[in-house]
Amino acid sequence: MTITLHQGDITKLEVDVIVNAANSSLLGGGGVDGAIHRAGGEEILAACRKIRARQGGCPTGEAVITTGGKLPARYVVHTVGPVWQGGASEEAELLARCYRRALELAEGVEARRVAFPNISTGVYGYPKEQAARVAWSAVRDFRATHLREVVFVCFDAENFSVYERLISEE
Ligand code: ADP
Repeated sequence: MTITLHQGDITKLEVDVIVNAANSSLLGGGGVDGAIHRAGGEEILAACRKIRARQGGCPTGEAVITTGGKLPARYVVHTVGPVWQGGASEEAELLARCYRRALELAEGVEARRVAFPNISTGVYGYPKEQAARVAWSAVRDFRATHLREVVFVCFDAENFSVYERLISEE
């Protein structure tokens, strides 16, 4: 499985699965969540509502999968990253679990290419360098079956330069 880097808007990517940094309500929000629901249309929200009716939202560190609606991606995995609280509240473990659970759900639909945003590094306030190291090792250590490529999509310049550095250290 190769790991690649892309700077830009995750909603534009033609991959099997894009991952959403959702909140536990699954009802949409700002940041990448808002962008995905805007670009993907009502069908994604309807699917999220159904899941919410069944299981009452999504806990931190867990993930659910829906259609990609009007997106070029076939599916969206919605995962709920931890809110940064200083680092002593299991943030790293919860963030790693987001990446692993998303990859497991992607494997479940036999995805070959999956794209991740930089979960928790927006309004949830996770320090970008630390989040990138957690993301990187969770993905690198994942035992893939169908997956061939994981794309880290960096929207902001700071995340992009952090990931560029990580890639060059490999
Ligand atoms: P969280 O609540 O998990 O922090 P945010 O959506 O606030 O989620 O931010 C997560 C990351 O998503 C941030 O690094 C932000 O720069 C990035 N982001 C925002 N919009 C997009 C987009 N359209 N495509 C990819 N990444 C995005």
